[in-house]
Amino acid sequence: MSSERVHRYIDDHRDEALDVLATLVRQPSISAQGVGIEACAALLAGLLRDAGIAAEVVPTATRPVVLGEVRRDPAAYTLLCYGHYDVQPPEPLELWESPPFEPTIRDGRLYGRGTGDNKGQLIAHVLAARAWLEAGGGPPVNLKFIFEGEEESGSPGLAAFVRAHRERLAADLVYISDGGLHPSGAPVITLGNRGILGVTLVAQGADRDNHSGNKGGVVPNPVWMLVHVLATMVDASGRVLIDGFYDRVRPVGAVEEALLGRLDFDPVAFGRTMGLPEVPMDGPTYWRRIMLEPYVNINGFISGYVGPGSKTIIPSKAECRMDFRLVVDQTTEEIFEKVRAHVVRVDPRVQVLPRGFGAMEPSRTPPDHPAVAVVAQAVRAVRGLEPYVNLCAGGSLPSAVWPRILGADHISVPYANADENNHSPNENLSLERFYDGIHVSAEVFRALGEADRAGALRRRPRTERGDRR
Ligand SMILES: [Zn+2]
Repeated sequence: MSSERVHRYIDDHRDEALDVLATLVRQPSISAQGVGIEACAALLAGLLRDAGIAAEVVPTATRPVVLGEVRRDPAAYTLLCYGHYDVQPPEPLELWESPPFEPTIRDGRLYGRGTGDNKGQLIAHVLAARAWLEAGGGPPVNLKFIFEGEEESGSPGLAAFVRAHRERLAADLVYISDGGLHPSGAPVITLGNRGILGVTLVAQGADRDNHSGNKGGVVPNPVWMLVHVLATMVDASGRVLIDGFYDRVRPVGAVEEALLGRLDFDPVAFGRTMGLPEVPMDGPTYWRRIMLEPYVNINGFISGYVGPGSKTIIPSKAECRMDFRLVVDQTTEEIFEKVRAHVVRVDPRVQVLPRGFGAMEPSRTPPDHPAVAVVAQAVRAVRGLEPYVNLCAGGSLPSAVWPRILGADHISVPYANADENNHSPNENLSLERFYDGIHVSAEVFRALGEADRAGALRRRPRTERGDRR
């Protein structure tokens, strides 16, 4: 395979690549406001076809999904590239130096809403496929593309879509580029996300607020009910006391420990980013807590009177809002049931309610998964730098749909500069990082194809139908 020709093609077609990205950024696609979504999906499908990729816009109950495919050989390794074509609302407009949907180059960066998050990153995969088709005799792996239009709104339809199109999306690995590089510019590989479960505890006392002097000691206080329940859930060190809470948490292995020790950490600088004088722990502890351990958080507590002066009441109702950050192999359903059983045992008067925003399952590809080393080597070959391996991002994304529904592991390699201003005014993408991204995608395709032919990769178990479709 002539990957040199592919990389040369990418270098020779920088201006065209930039034009393609600018065309995509010019089209608004604000999922939160329902602006330009259908037009952007159609435009993106057209750009895929221009690159030689069979593409289709698939309508859904919510936002349409753009699918694409380059089929090489039914027996070859199949890589599914995921991205999202929707963007965050651009407001406040007055803080933009150039209008958000008029892509503008300044100081080696393309400015515009969606340049980094995620149009510039998803189109890098498409342009890498084009380079392989034009200059390399076709990509060395089967390529599939799924670009959703509602990631910035929490991907409400993604799981159902993947379930409904499981055969069509069947892949050995899912490849994702979103988010930013390390602030030093060094490449990053991210292998997972913590999950999230939102829970509300509600305690009801009397049906009205009561005088705390005349009724104090007789009328039950719902705030005390919640305080007592909460104190039985987590101890002062943060250890969760709910029965069976840690049952499914994977032990941290030697490979993970070694990677935690390699991540950079500065207690004072990290503390400053959080408004603390310092983080009182060592680097491996810091990263282990964020990446590999669950956390039970109280994010809001509503009760009583907090207005001016004072009001001596026994409140009638108290509500505590919590988020549970979960790690593999915990599930939101399992943890919700354990929380409910715990609360019922401690104080059956307290209600446990799931909270409206979408629960997301945790997922994490193990660092010794054979594709991780292959992707890391491809990144190193392009960037000439050692990538940071993030075992898991602390925040939540719907990445669990890939292993849980599709049976495919996932690897994320962000392409944007760390100061891309995603979700903020003056979002931008460094042109050099954009071109690097196209090279990285092309090299990842090459490296996975080569490793697969050498029998070094893990294949997803295939059904007969999954093989053929
Ligand atoms: Zn975003």
